[in-house]
Amino acid sequence: MKVMIMRKRYLFAPGPTSVPPEVLLELAKPVLHHREPQFLEILSQVRDGLRYLFQTSGEVIILSASGTGAMEAAVANLFSTGDRALVISGGKFGERWAEICRTYGVEAVALEVPWGEAVKPSDVADALARDASIRGVCVQVCETSTGAAHDVRALGEIVRAHPHVVLIVDAVSALGAVDVRTDEWGLDAVVGGSQKAMMLPPGLAFVAMSAKAWQRAGQTNLPRYYFDLPKIRGELVQDDHPYTLPTPLVVALRESLGYVRAEGLDRIFRRHRQLAEATRAGIKALGLSLLAEKSPSDALTVVRVPEGIDGARLPKLFQELCNITIVGGQDRLRGKVFRLAHMGYVDTFDVVTMVSAVEFVLHRLGYPLEWGAGVRAAQEVLARPID
Ligand SMILES: *Cc1c(COP(=O)(O)O)cnc(C)c1O
Repeated sequence: MKVMIMRKRYLFAPGPTSVPPEVLLELAKPVLHHREPQFLEILSQVRDGLRYLFQTSGEVIILSASGTGAMEAAVANLFSTGDRALVISGGKFGERWAEICRTYGVEAVALEVPWGEAVKPSDVADALARDASIRGVCVQVCETSTGAAHDVRALGEIVRAHPHVVLIVDAVSALGAVDVRTDEWGLDAVVGGSQKAMMLPPGLAFVAMSAKAWQRAGQTNLPRYYFDLPKIRGELVQDDHPYTLPTPLVVALRESLGYVRAEGLDRIFRRHRQLAEATRAGIKALGLSLLAEKSPSDALTVVRVPEGIDGARLPKLFQELCNITIVGGQDRLRGKVFRLAHMGYVDTFDVVTMVSAVEFVLHRLGYPLEWGAGVRAAQEVLARPID
Protein backbone atom coordinates (compact mmCIF):
# COMPACT_ATOMS: atom_id res chain seq x y z
CA MET A 1 0.00 0.00 0.00
CA LYS A 2 1.12 3.52 -0.71
CA VAL A 3 2.26 5.37 2.35
CA MET A 4 0.11 8.43 2.74
CA ILE A 5 1.65 11.52 4.18
CA MET A 6 -1.27 13.18 5.90
CA ARG A 7 -1.57 16.58 4.26
CA LYS A 8 -4.88 18.01 3.21
CA ARG A 9 -4.92 19.96 -0.01
CA TYR A 10 -6.73 23.23 -0.57
CA LEU A 11 -7.57 24.96 -3.80
CA PHE A 12 -7.85 28.71 -3.31
CA ALA A 13 -7.15 29.77 -6.90
CA PRO A 14 -9.67 31.92 -8.80
CA GLY A 15 -10.68 28.96 -10.91
CA PRO A 16 -10.79 26.08 -10.92
CA THR A 17 -12.12 26.12 -7.38
CA SER A 18 -13.00 23.32 -5.02
CA VAL A 19 -16.19 21.37 -5.58
CA PRO A 20 -18.53 20.02 -2.87
CA PRO A 21 -18.19 16.24 -2.32
CA GLU A 22 -21.86 15.66 -3.18
CA VAL A 23 -21.33 17.33 -6.53
CA LEU A 24 -18.24 15.23 -7.16
CA LEU A 25 -20.23 12.08 -6.40
CA GLU A 26 -22.65 12.98 -9.19
CA LEU A 27 -19.70 12.79 -11.56
CA ALA A 28 -19.07 9.19 -10.53
CA LYS A 29 -22.47 8.00 -11.72
CA PRO A 30 -22.99 6.15 -15.00
CA VAL A 31 -22.86 8.42 -18.03
CA LEU A 32 -26.27 9.32 -19.44
CA HIS A 33 -27.05 9.77 -23.10
CA HIS A 34 -27.78 13.39 -23.96
CA ARG A 35 -31.17 12.51 -25.44
CA GLU A 36 -32.47 9.88 -23.02
CA PRO A 37 -35.52 10.84 -20.95
CA GLN A 38 -33.69 10.75 -17.63
CA PHE A 39 -31.18 13.29 -18.90
CA LEU A 40 -33.77 15.53 -20.55
CA GLU A 41 -35.57 15.78 -17.22
CA ILE A 42 -32.31 16.84 -15.58
CA LEU A 43 -31.64 19.34 -18.37
CA SER A 44 -35.03 20.88 -17.77
CA GLN A 45 -34.27 21.31 -14.06
CA VAL A 46 -30.86 22.75 -14.90
CA ARG A 47 -32.41 25.32 -17.25
CA ASP A 48 -34.64 26.41 -14.40
CA GLY A 49 -31.79 26.61 -11.91
CA LEU A 50 -29.70 28.65 -14.34
CA ARG A 51 -32.50 31.17 -14.76
CA TYR A 52 -32.52 31.59 -10.98
CA LEU A 53 -28.75 32.01 -10.78
CA PHE A 54 -28.59 34.44 -13.72
CA GLN A 55 -31.69 36.28 -12.45
CA THR A 56 -33.33 36.14 -15.84
CA SER A 57 -36.59 34.89 -17.26
CA GLY A 58 -34.82 34.17 -20.54
CA GLU A 59 -32.99 31.07 -21.69
CA VAL A 60 -29.44 30.54 -20.43
CA ILE A 61 -27.41 28.93 -23.20
CA ILE A 62 -25.21 26.01 -22.15
CA LEU A 63 -21.94 25.51 -24.03
CA SER A 64 -19.21 22.89 -23.79
CA ALA A 65 -16.28 25.23 -23.31
CA SER A 66 -14.37 27.13 -20.67
CA GLY A 67 -15.52 30.67 -19.94
CA THR A 68 -13.56 32.13 -22.84
CA GLY A 69 -15.68 30.08 -25.23
CA ALA A 70 -18.79 31.87 -24.00
CA MET A 71 -17.01 35.24 -24.35
CA GLU A 72 -16.21 34.31 -27.94
CA ALA A 73 -19.79 33.17 -28.52
CA ALA A 74 -21.11 36.53 -27.31
CA VAL A 75 -18.84 38.45 -29.67
CA ALA A 76 -19.48 36.16 -32.64
CA ASN A 77 -23.24 36.47 -32.24
CA LEU A 78 -23.64 40.12 -31.29
CA PHE A 79 -21.41 41.96 -33.75
CA SER A 80 -21.02 42.25 -37.50
CA THR A 81 -17.87 42.78 -39.53
CA GLY A 82 -16.40 46.22 -38.97
CA ASP A 83 -18.56 47.03 -35.92
CA ARG A 84 -16.96 49.04 -33.14
CA ALA A 85 -16.95 47.80 -29.54
CA LEU A 86 -16.04 49.80 -26.47
CA VAL A 87 -13.92 47.52 -24.31
CA ILE A 88 -13.33 48.30 -20.65
CA SER A 89 -9.68 47.38 -20.34
CA GLY A 90 -8.41 47.29 -16.78
CA GLY A 91 -6.79 43.87 -16.65
CA LYS A 92 -6.14 40.60 -18.47
CA PHE A 93 -9.79 39.74 -18.98
CA GLY A 94 -10.69 43.16 -20.33
CA GLU A 95 -7.83 42.72 -22.76
CA ARG A 96 -9.27 39.35 -23.71
CA TRP A 97 -12.47 41.03 -24.88
CA ALA A 98 -10.37 43.22 -27.17
CA GLU A 99 -8.41 40.24 -28.51
CA ILE A 100 -11.56 38.29 -29.30
CA CYS A 101 -13.14 41.31 -31.00
CA ARG A 102 -10.07 41.89 -33.18
CA THR A 103 -9.95 38.21 -34.11
CA TYR A 104 -13.46 38.57 -35.52
CA GLY A 105 -12.81 41.81 -37.35
CA VAL A 106 -14.61 43.90 -34.75
CA GLU A 107 -12.81 47.13 -33.94
CA ALA A 108 -12.08 47.24 -30.21
CA VAL A 109 -11.95 50.75 -28.82
CA ALA A 110 -10.21 50.39 -25.45
CA LEU A 111 -11.32 52.47 -22.51
CA GLU A 112 -8.16 52.08 -20.47
CA VAL A 113 -8.57 51.82 -16.72
CA PRO A 114 -5.54 51.60 -14.40
CA TRP A 115 -5.12 47.97 -13.33
CA GLY A 116 -6.75 47.58 -9.93
CA GLU A 117 -9.36 50.26 -10.48
CA ALA A 118 -12.96 50.15 -11.62
CA VAL A 119 -14.17 52.02 -14.68
CA LYS A 120 -15.95 55.31 -14.01
CA PRO A 121 -19.46 54.85 -15.41
CA SER A 122 -19.48 58.49 -16.55
CA ASP A 123 -16.46 57.74 -18.75
CA VAL A 124 -18.52 55.07 -20.50
CA ALA A 125 -21.44 57.47 -20.90
CA ASP A 126 -19.05 60.07 -22.40
CA ALA A 127 -17.49 57.54 -24.77
CA LEU A 128 -20.91 56.47 -26.04
CA ALA A 129 -22.03 60.09 -26.45
CA ARG A 130 -18.85 60.93 -28.40
CA ASP A 131 -18.96 57.96 -30.74
CA ALA A 132 -22.36 56.98 -32.13
CA SER A 133 -20.83 54.15 -34.16
CA ILE A 134 -20.19 51.98 -31.09
CA ARG A 135 -22.44 48.92 -31.12
CA GLY A 136 -21.46 47.22 -27.87
CA VAL A 137 -19.75 47.69 -24.52
CA CYS A 138 -17.70 44.76 -23.16
CA VAL A 139 -16.86 44.60 -19.47
CA GLN A 140 -16.19 42.27 -16.52
CA VAL A 141 -18.23 42.16 -13.31
CA CYS A 142 -15.09 41.08 -11.54
CA GLU A 143 -11.75 41.63 -13.31
CA THR A 144 -10.15 38.50 -11.89
CA SER A 145 -6.60 39.57 -12.75
CA THR A 146 -6.77 42.63 -10.47
CA GLY A 147 -9.63 41.87 -8.07
CA ALA A 148 -11.51 45.03 -9.06
CA ALA A 149 -15.31 45.10 -9.41
CA HIS A 150 -16.83 47.17 -12.22
CA ASP A 151 -20.25 48.67 -11.55
CA VAL A 152 -22.22 46.86 -14.25
CA ARG A 153 -25.49 48.00 -12.74
CA ALA A 154 -24.57 51.63 -13.48
CA LEU A 155 -23.40 50.61 -16.96
CA GLY A 156 -26.75 48.94 -17.56
CA GLU A 157 -28.50 52.24 -16.83
CA ILE A 158 -26.27 54.04 -19.31
CA VAL A 159 -26.42 51.53 -22.14
CA ARG A 160 -30.20 51.13 -21.84
CA ALA A 161 -30.56 54.63 -23.28
CA HIS A 162 -28.73 53.58 -26.46
CA PRO A 163 -30.95 51.35 -28.59
CA HIS A 164 -28.07 50.38 -30.89
CA VAL A 165 -25.64 49.41 -28.14
CA VAL A 166 -25.58 46.12 -26.25
CA LEU A 167 -23.88 45.64 -22.88
CA ILE A 168 -21.85 42.43 -22.84
CA VAL A 169 -20.88 41.35 -19.36
CA ASP A 170 -18.28 38.75 -18.43
CA ALA A 171 -19.56 37.43 -15.12
CA VAL A 172 -17.43 34.29 -15.14
CA SER A 173 -15.89 34.93 -11.71
CA ALA A 174 -19.00 36.66 -10.36
CA LEU A 175 -22.00 34.38 -10.86
CA GLY A 176 -22.60 32.55 -7.61
CA ALA A 177 -20.49 35.02 -5.62
CA VAL A 178 -21.86 38.51 -6.18
CA ASP A 179 -25.16 39.97 -7.36
CA VAL A 180 -25.62 39.97 -11.14
CA ARG A 181 -29.18 40.91 -12.11
CA THR A 182 -29.38 40.14 -15.78
CA ASP A 183 -32.95 41.32 -16.41
CA GLU A 184 -33.37 44.04 -13.80
CA TRP A 185 -30.10 45.81 -14.60
CA GLY A 186 -30.56 45.61 -18.35
CA LEU A 187 -27.50 43.45 -19.04
CA ASP A 188 -27.75 42.32 -22.66
CA ALA A 189 -25.38 39.37 -22.50
CA VAL A 190 -24.09 37.72 -19.34
CA VAL A 191 -21.32 35.18 -19.67
CA GLY A 192 -20.58 32.49 -17.08
CA GLY A 193 -18.23 29.56 -16.56
CA SER A 194 -18.58 26.43 -14.44
CA GLN A 195 -15.27 26.43 -12.57
CA LYS A 196 -15.39 29.70 -10.65
CA ALA A 197 -18.18 30.31 -8.12
CA MET A 198 -20.58 27.75 -9.58
CA MET A 199 -18.97 24.92 -7.57
CA LEU A 200 -18.21 22.70 -10.56
CA PRO A 201 -15.14 21.50 -12.44
CA PRO A 202 -14.16 23.29 -15.67
CA GLY A 203 -15.95 22.41 -18.89
CA LEU A 204 -19.24 24.30 -19.10
CA ALA A 205 -19.84 27.90 -20.12
CA PHE A 206 -23.04 29.93 -20.28
CA VAL A 207 -24.57 32.93 -22.00
CA ALA A 208 -27.83 34.64 -21.01
CA MET A 209 -29.16 37.35 -23.32
CA SER A 210 -31.79 40.08 -23.32
CA ALA A 211 -34.51 40.44 -25.96
CA LYS A 212 -32.45 43.28 -27.45
CA ALA A 213 -29.44 40.97 -27.76
CA TRP A 214 -31.44 38.07 -29.24
CA GLN A 215 -32.81 40.41 -31.84
CA ARG A 216 -29.29 41.59 -32.63
CA ALA A 217 -28.06 37.98 -32.84
CA GLY A 218 -30.60 37.33 -35.57
CA GLN A 219 -29.12 40.10 -37.74
CA THR A 220 -25.34 39.85 -37.33
CA ASN A 221 -23.02 38.34 -39.90
CA LEU A 222 -19.87 37.07 -38.16
CA PRO A 223 -18.98 33.44 -38.88
CA ARG A 224 -20.14 30.93 -36.29
CA TYR A 225 -21.03 27.30 -36.27
CA TYR A 226 -20.60 25.57 -32.91
CA PHE A 227 -21.39 28.79 -31.06
CA ASP A 228 -24.51 29.70 -33.04
CA LEU A 229 -26.56 30.89 -30.06
CA PRO A 230 -29.98 31.27 -31.73
CA LYS A 231 -29.66 27.74 -33.06
CA ILE A 232 -28.77 26.33 -29.62
CA ARG A 233 -31.57 28.28 -27.99
CA GLY A 234 -34.05 26.89 -30.49
CA GLU A 235 -33.25 23.37 -29.26
CA LEU A 236 -32.75 24.14 -25.56
CA VAL A 237 -36.24 25.53 -25.20
CA GLN A 238 -37.43 22.06 -26.20
CA ASP A 239 -35.11 20.45 -23.63
CA ASP A 240 -32.74 19.44 -26.37
CA HIS A 241 -29.31 20.55 -27.56
CA PRO A 242 -27.88 20.38 -31.08
CA TYR A 243 -24.60 18.79 -29.90
CA THR A 244 -23.47 16.26 -27.31
CA LEU A 245 -23.41 17.92 -23.93
CA PRO A 246 -20.88 16.75 -21.33
CA THR A 247 -23.72 14.96 -19.58
CA PRO A 248 -21.90 14.17 -16.30
CA LEU A 249 -21.13 17.88 -15.85
CA VAL A 250 -24.75 18.80 -16.50
CA VAL A 251 -25.86 16.22 -13.93
CA ALA A 252 -23.38 17.69 -11.45
CA LEU A 253 -24.63 21.17 -12.33
CA ARG A 254 -28.12 20.19 -11.24
CA GLU A 255 -26.66 19.32 -7.84
CA SER A 256 -24.69 22.56 -7.46
CA LEU A 257 -27.66 24.63 -8.63
CA GLY A 258 -29.69 22.81 -5.99
CA TYR A 259 -27.23 24.15 -3.40
CA VAL A 260 -27.56 27.63 -4.81
CA ARG A 261 -31.32 27.47 -4.56
CA ALA A 262 -31.26 25.97 -1.06
CA GLU A 263 -28.96 28.66 0.34
CA GLY A 264 -30.63 31.40 -1.69
CA LEU A 265 -28.91 34.14 -3.66
CA ASP A 266 -29.26 36.73 -0.89
CA ARG A 267 -27.43 34.63 1.63
CA ILE A 268 -24.83 33.56 -0.91
CA PHE A 269 -23.99 37.20 -1.58
CA ARG A 270 -23.91 38.03 2.16
CA ARG A 271 -21.61 35.06 2.77
CA HIS A 272 -19.23 36.14 0.05
CA ARG A 273 -19.28 39.70 1.35
CA GLN A 274 -18.30 38.48 4.78
CA LEU A 275 -15.59 36.11 3.51
CA ALA A 276 -14.16 38.94 1.41
CA GLU A 277 -14.28 41.47 4.25
CA ALA A 278 -12.61 39.00 6.58
CA THR A 279 -9.85 38.28 4.07
CA ARG A 280 -9.29 41.98 3.47
CA ALA A 281 -9.21 42.68 7.22
CA GLY A 282 -6.70 39.87 7.75
CA ILE A 283 -4.47 41.09 4.96
CA LYS A 284 -4.49 44.67 6.20
CA ALA A 285 -3.81 43.61 9.80
CA LEU A 286 -0.59 42.08 8.50
CA GLY A 287 0.45 45.42 7.06
CA LEU A 288 -0.24 44.35 3.48
CA SER A 289 -2.34 46.23 0.95
CA LEU A 290 -4.89 45.36 -1.71
CA LEU A 291 -4.43 46.07 -5.40
CA ALA A 292 -8.09 47.04 -5.78
CA GLU A 293 -8.24 49.24 -2.71
CA LYS A 294 -11.28 51.28 -3.71
CA SER A 295 -13.57 48.78 -5.37
CA PRO A 296 -12.55 45.26 -4.44
CA SER A 297 -14.68 42.36 -5.63
CA ASP A 298 -16.09 39.98 -3.05
CA ALA A 299 -15.06 37.02 -5.22
CA LEU A 300 -11.32 37.23 -4.67
CA THR A 301 -8.69 39.33 -2.94
CA VAL A 302 -5.61 40.48 -4.83
CA VAL A 303 -2.79 41.36 -2.47
CA ARG A 304 0.28 43.43 -3.28
CA VAL A 305 3.54 41.62 -2.60
CA PRO A 306 5.28 43.65 0.09
CA GLU A 307 8.56 45.46 -0.55
CA GLY A 308 11.59 43.20 -0.37
CA ILE A 309 9.67 39.93 -0.82
CA ASP A 310 10.22 37.78 -3.91
CA GLY A 311 6.71 37.59 -5.36
CA ALA A 312 7.52 34.69 -7.66
CA ARG A 313 8.21 32.48 -4.64
CA LEU A 314 4.89 33.13 -2.93
CA PRO A 315 2.60 30.70 -4.80
CA LYS A 316 5.36 28.06 -4.68
CA LEU A 317 5.66 28.41 -0.93
CA PHE A 318 1.90 28.20 -0.44
CA GLN A 319 2.11 24.87 -2.25
CA GLU A 320 5.21 23.49 -0.52
CA LEU A 321 4.54 24.73 2.97
CA CYS A 322 0.75 24.53 3.17
CA ASN A 323 -0.39 22.32 0.26
CA ILE A 324 -2.51 25.27 -0.81
CA THR A 325 -2.87 26.21 -4.47
CA ILE A 326 -3.10 29.93 -5.08
CA VAL A 327 -1.93 32.00 -8.04
CA GLY A 328 0.26 35.02 -8.50
CA GLY A 329 -0.13 37.91 -10.90
CA GLN A 330 -0.22 37.72 -14.69
CA ASP A 331 1.53 39.87 -17.22
CA ARG A 332 2.47 43.28 -15.80
CA LEU A 333 1.43 42.09 -12.34
CA ARG A 334 3.76 39.06 -12.41
CA GLY A 335 5.65 38.86 -9.13
CA LYS A 336 3.80 41.93 -7.85
CA VAL A 337 0.61 40.41 -6.44
CA PHE A 338 -0.85 37.15 -5.21
CA ARG A 339 -4.50 36.22 -5.53
CA LEU A 340 -6.66 34.54 -2.92
CA ALA A 341 -10.04 33.35 -4.15
CA HIS A 342 -12.99 33.00 -1.80
CA MET A 343 -15.69 32.14 -4.32
CA GLY A 344 -18.12 29.26 -4.48
CA TYR A 345 -17.66 26.35 -2.09
CA VAL A 346 -15.94 28.42 0.59
CA ASP A 347 -16.82 29.06 4.20
CA THR A 348 -15.55 30.65 7.41
CA PHE A 349 -12.78 28.18 8.12
CA ASP A 350 -11.41 28.28 4.60
CA VAL A 351 -10.74 31.97 5.11
CA VAL A 352 -9.14 31.33 8.50
CA THR A 353 -6.91 28.74 6.82
CA MET A 354 -6.12 31.10 3.95
CA VAL A 355 -5.09 34.01 6.16
CA SER A 356 -3.16 31.69 8.45
CA ALA A 357 -1.27 30.38 5.42
CA VAL A 358 -0.41 33.94 4.39
CA GLU A 359 1.22 34.33 7.80
CA PHE A 360 3.17 31.07 7.46
CA VAL A 361 4.43 31.93 3.99
CA LEU A 362 5.37 35.54 4.72
CA HIS A 363 7.12 34.52 7.91
CA ARG A 364 9.17 31.99 5.96
CA LEU A 365 10.17 34.77 3.58
CA GLY A 366 11.42 36.91 6.44
CA TYR A 367 8.50 39.34 6.53
CA PRO A 368 8.08 40.74 10.04
CA LEU A 369 4.70 39.85 11.50
CA GLU A 370 2.94 39.22 14.75
CA TRP A 371 1.63 35.65 14.70
CA GLY A 372 -2.13 35.54 14.52
CA ALA A 373 -2.63 39.22 13.79
CA GLY A 374 -4.20 38.50 10.40
CA VAL A 375 -6.19 35.53 11.64
CA ARG A 376 -7.55 37.50 14.57
CA ALA A 377 -8.70 40.36 12.35
CA ALA A 378 -10.37 37.88 10.00
CA GLN A 379 -12.08 36.08 12.87
CA GLU A 380 -13.49 39.32 14.21
CA VAL A 381 -15.32 39.76 10.92
CA LEU A 382 -16.27 36.11 10.57
CA ALA A 383 -17.82 36.00 14.04
CA ARG A 384 -20.59 38.38 12.98
CA PRO A 385 -23.82 36.58 12.18
CA ILE A 386 -24.94 36.97 8.58
CA ASP A 387 -28.38 35.36 8.73
C1 LIG B 1 -11.78 32.64 -15.51
C2 LIG B 1 -12.31 33.79 -16.22
C3 LIG B 1 -12.67 33.72 -17.58
C4 LIG B 1 -12.64 32.48 -18.40
O1 LIG B 1 -11.44 31.82 -18.41
P1 LIG B 1 -11.41 30.32 -18.93
O2 LIG B 1 -10.02 29.90 -18.56
O3 LIG B 1 -11.65 30.33 -20.37
O4 LIG B 1 -12.47 29.59 -18.19
C5 LIG B 1 -13.20 34.84 -18.17
N1 LIG B 1 -13.35 35.97 -17.49
C6 LIG B 1 -13.03 36.08 -16.20
C7 LIG B 1 -13.28 37.38 -15.51
C8 LIG B 1 -12.50 35.00 -15.52
O5 LIG B 1 -12.21 35.11 -14.22
